[in-house]
Amino acid sequence: LILFFIMSYSYAQNTTHKVLDKSTEHKIDSLLSIMTIEEKVGQMNQLNGFWDATGPVPKEGSAETKYEDLKNGWVGAMLNVRGVKQVKALQKVAVEQTRLGIPLLFGYDVIHGYKTISPIPLAEASSWDLEIIEKSASIAAAEASSSGINWTFAPMVDISRDPRWGRVMEGAGEDPFLGSKIAIARVNGFQGTNLKATNTIAACAKHFAAYGFVESGKEYNSVDIGSSTLHNIVLPPFKAAVDTNVKTVMNSFNELNGIPVTASSYLQRDILKDQWNFNGFVVSDWASINELINWGIAKNKKEAAEIASKAGSDMDMEGSVYIKELSELVRNGIVPESIVDDAARRILRVKFELGLFDDPYKYCNLDNEKSTIYNPKYQEQVLDIAKKSIVLLKNENSILPLKKEKQHIAIIGPLANDKNSPLGSWRLASDDHSAVSVLEGMQEYTGNKLTFSKGVDLITEPTRFIKEVKINTIDTSGFSDAIEIAKIADVVVMVLGEHGYQSGEARSRTELNLPGLQQKLLEAIFKVNQNIVLVLNNGRPLAIPWAAANVPAIVEAWQLGSQTGNAVAQVLYGDYNPSGKLPITFPRHVGQIPIYYNYKNTGRPSNNNNNVFWSHYIDSSNSPLYPFGYGLSYTTFEYSNFNINGSTFKINDTIKVSVDITNTGICKGKEVVQLYIRDMVGSISRPVKELKGFELVDLKKGETKTVHFTLDKTQLGYFNNDGAFVVEPGDFKVFVGGNSLTSLEIKFELID
Ligand code: BGC
Repeated sequence: LILFFIMSYSYAQNTTHKVLDKSTEHKIDSLLSIMTIEEKVGQMNQLNGFWDATGPVPKEGSAETKYEDLKNGWVGAMLNVRGVKQVKALQKVAVEQTRLGIPLLFGYDVIHGYKTISPIPLAEASSWDLEIIEKSASIAAAEASSSGINWTFAPMVDISRDPRWGRVMEGAGEDPFLGSKIAIARVNGFQGTNLKATNTIAACAKHFAAYGFVESGKEYNSVDIGSSTLHNIVLPPFKAAVDTNVKTVMNSFNELNGIPVTASSYLQRDILKDQWNFNGFVVSDWASINELINWGIAKNKKEAAEIASKAGSDMDMEGSVYIKELSELVRNGIVPESIVDDAARRILRVKFELGLFDDPYKYCNLDNEKSTIYNPKYQEQVLDIAKKSIVLLKNENSILPLKKEKQHIAIIGPLANDKNSPLGSWRLASDDHSAVSVLEGMQEYTGNKLTFSKGVDLITEPTRFIKEVKINTIDTSGFSDAIEIAKIADVVVMVLGEHGYQSGEARSRTELNLPGLQQKLLEAIFKVNQNIVLVLNNGRPLAIPWAAANVPAIVEAWQLGSQTGNAVAQVLYGDYNPSGKLPITFPRHVGQIPIYYNYKNTGRPSNNNNNVFWSHYIDSSNSPLYPFGYGLSYTTFEYSNFNINGSTFKINDTIKVSVDITNTGICKGKEVVQLYIRDMVGSISRPVKELKGFELVDLKKGETKTVHFTLDKTQLGYFNNDGAFVVEPGDFKVFVGGNSLTSLEIKFELID
């Protein structure tokens, strides 16, 4: 145990030493040499659009001092401006009216689509299909860039183990390995291989860091986690994004172990910029520099500006703290000018890399905007992504797929005919009510008789992004109609879940049930017809033990974006065999949270011997409702011939593992073959399982394929409590199967 290898941080994680382009750096040098302090600080200032970003082009004197700042060259970037006309008008001011003519960055929350909306990121993560995830980001980049935007505030790569936190919908779930692969796919999708092209944009890995660990799942809260969790769970997806050359990183609203992240030079300078060699820039989250005052870290804006700039927050998003305070702080010698130079250099570098100095209007082509937005080919592509994001959670008595003829299908539920909610939370530019509803999707199949009753309202008044969602808890007047059609139907498809704005930013929940009166409705329908297919539309895991025990079929359809209804219908009718797997654990009860697959054993692990003195609850099982990695198919798969190329390996060896997988069921299908390891004895306690590989395998009926994995020290090691990467000799287990509870296992030993 004492024999362990400490590897340098960068080696362990293969930091790519990015070579800076000399000619760009020279251009930045010359630019910086003629810039005033205010102009340099101006680059560090990001302004929100002039309120109605799609309205008339702003005029001189409008929107307080913002327009003046813009003309003075005191603005480096804007956000929430969209549309070629608007972007061009503002870019023109920056390029033609300021002293140096430095072009602006235009940032926007293009999170899961711009106009054509993809499934929410958590849903896409359920596909485990890196190709389509990358495709989805590239569609979003193409649409957004055609509309003048050159920078997206995505991907969100926050790992979270707490579904009460509304922002789990924006991420890739609970696992750092899957999360890292998805981070890479998304960065590649947005940035493409050529940032100078007109259909790629700069990406932003956010929120750096540990935002997904806010205490009690409450938005914007404190985070108190140890070094091991920080390095092994939280940071890997950020590191993966940085190694994929992500151009920007956004810091987070939370504090981490007492230091608000915006003020953390440990995170922003030591880890991100020094150890990881990140040469893009860090943007604050919305006014997070100002928030240092509320956190009690700065007594006023001046101090906030000093602390944040010294800590490595390069750009101030809509806080106006830098623009008001920083120049004076530099003049007074409180903040070294080198800090401002470094930040401005990083921001200018991204502008050069995007090609904005070659052509500041490169994203401003009206014809391109017209032909790109809502291009029909994107609808087809997001439909494909949506189908692949669906997870089949239960299918008893083969109630699914539905028969295509001579059936009476009752469609019931407040979300069945909803064209808005399925668009999810982050779709700022999309047109409201533009999704295909589940009802519309089902109507495409004409062989059956369909009846519809919403049964109950989920919300009591229309809702928008920045608005509380008012849930109906009183009015059950629609129940009777729904019960009537259910009584005489062959199958009831119930579409229940969360409103699209019940998850996302500032949407934490204390309950994870079906909100409002939906559970009541479900039970009322069940009394008259048990042949229920429950289609869930939600932005987070739900705790639905009653449904899991009673309803014969459950389909997790998340919020699938523009093509929701078509995707759901094609899966329900078996035209697409579901292949998704959960990227996050579903609890039985909110009290189990945090519940996740890569937990550690206690000193008294469960022994199932009915012994009260082991680690458990007296009112619930320890097990999740549905584990990480879980998902069914209309066919079945069998694993066999699980092999490893030895039983003892040296630290530098590459270990080869293989397994055969056979489609033993009734139709073709896809399986996500998952590989987990367990380090049996470590110098700090190790998780009972850690995902270290996966492959999506397409199998015809009866077909067998062999899947190969490799393991090496980068997967077998981990970060210890000093933040050092160690690979420790000793016993390991490797597991393979179709979810995280899989039991095929082989032991091996690692020796030095
Ligand atoms: C969110 C960010 C987002 C930013 C700009 C903040 O409130 O936390 O994720 O990118 O607003 O809209």
